[in-house]
Amino acid sequence: MEYVISQLRYQLTNFDKIPIRFKTTFLWRIILLTVREMDKRLYERYGNTRWWPAETRDEVVIGTILTQNTSWSNVEKAIDQLRLAGCLSLKCICTLESGKLETLIRSAGFFRQKAERLRNLSCSIVSRYGGLEKMITEPREEVEKFLSSQKGVGRETLDSILLYALDFPEFVVDKYTLRIFSRTGIEQEPTIESVKEAVASSGIRDPDALKNLHGMIVYLGKDHCRTKPKCSGCPLLENCQYGHSLNERSAE
Ligand code: SF4
Repeated sequence: MEYVISQLRYQLTNFDKIPIRFKTTFLWRIILLTVREMDKRLYERYGNTRWWPAETRDEVVIGTILTQNTSWSNVEKAIDQLRLAGCLSLKCICTLESGKLETLIRSAGFFRQKAERLRNLSCSIVSRYGGLEKMITEPREEVEKFLSSQKGVGRETLDSILLYALDFPEFVVDKYTLRIFSRTGIEQEPTIESVKEAVASSGIRDPDALKNLHGMIVYLGKDHCRTKPKCSGCPLLENCQYGHSLNERSAE
């Protein structure tokens, strides 16, 4: 209800800027876009994305470090090298010689820094928990505190590990999410915390549903809601504030 009230307030404040021919449809269309509605529309387009693209929990953790400041295609090459070397696990990475690890993950960029972070994180997890299967059984607050204290584990990396490697119900907010929440008008000035709150109050709490929502947002961000948006064919266009404003400008 708070969301609807805030949307109404915003739309009414800006109502005089809307061309007359759009006034009758603008309000109800924008108001209808909630997190739930977005989830539904994205699911109709993308279905189950099976995001994060990894076969094991260890692979997820490795991917979260490798993906920092690089594209996923570069991460895939590094993951393939680790797989070919038979070292796609935290235990193996912990024992791998630094130079060898750097060579294997070179394609992911910043390879010296990433090799150091990956090795430190792997060894910390192995020495404290033995592995991720044990980590899952520990209290979430304790796990979160431990991970946050590790070098190279920032907010997005932490949330990705919590959700995708450990199955804790934590929504991952990345640049695509902030952009899409802002442009659609779900939130006018979204922050990581406000987006998490909006998703939590939508009732989407199941880890698998949270994983897929984030995956679908990544797909939409790549397919349509890029830096320069490609709104034509976007599954959210009908209810998107930014998409409508583009249409209005082109109709004028
Ligand atoms: S309609 Fe355009 S601005 Fe809105 S979510 Fe889709 S691509 Fe992004």
